Amino acid sequence: MDKKIKFLYIYTVGLTIFSFIIFYILINTKKDYKEFQKNYQTEIVSLQKEVLVLKEILKDREKELEKTKKEKEEIETKLKNIEEKIKKANHYLERKGIKVELPEGGIYIPENSKKIHLYAGNLEKSITKLLKTIQDIPVGVPLYGKITSGFGVRRDPFTGKKAFHTGIDLRATFKQPVFATANGKVVYAGWGRGYGKMVKIKHKYGFTTLYAHMYYIKVKTGQYVKAGQIIGYAGSTGRSTGVHLHYEIRRYGKLIDPKKMLYLNSKNRI
Ligand SMILES: [Zn+2]
Repeated sequence: MDKKIKFLYIYTVGLTIFSFIIFYILINTKKDYKEFQKNYQTEIVSLQKEVLVLKEILKDREKELEKTKKEKEEIETKLKNIEEKIKKANHYLERKGIKVELPEGGIYIPENSKKIHLYAGNLEKSITKLLKTIQDIPVGVPLYGKITSGFGVRRDPFTGKKAFHTGIDLRATFKQPVFATANGKVVYAGWGRGYGKMVKIKHKYGFTTLYAHMYYIKVKTGQYVKAGQIIGYAGSTGRSTGVHLHYEIRRYGKLIDPKKMLYLNSKNRI
């Protein structure tokens, strides 16, 4: 073969092989790029999905937060209502001349809801104090019966003349239970002339109560009694025209109308 032809031949073959290599590299690079692009897009799509899920979670959390906030507000409102009631109860007691010292800090209005448990605790203390005070003062009825004779000037059932009635008379059935209207100490239990079988109890805040004409006395002088405890049973002993309970209240020795103490929210002052 001619040297020139041989060279041309080698040159052509070489160029062809070189072109193939270049072509191969180019094809592969394009393939890699496409794959990369494909992967990249898949990743972006999955990231977008993740973002959506996170957004949903965030939305849920926001809803929860709003719900919690609402619940907190509701609790605050309820506590404030309780506070109002405590104030009202205290006001009723003040009307009766009873000043209740509410616990340290008194009724506390929270500046933020974080202190809500502290607020609730204070309210609870106030309620407990009020309840205790109410049990210490003679409010309520000593016997369930209709008032047949009121406090003050009336016609005496024995003489027919005008006389001062020192308490109220409550119609009773024989042996009907008589209750102490407040916590206190029995300072007298026994016969008391016109009063018949009677019980006198000394309470806090200067109060004394007296229960008369009983058939049977269940307590003894010196004994401590609780509000609502049975102290005896109704009868007609002493200066009495029939079975009834004569009930008296004194404060610092001065007679007061028991009718005004039968109901806590009575507007009448004592
Ligand atoms: Zn009487």
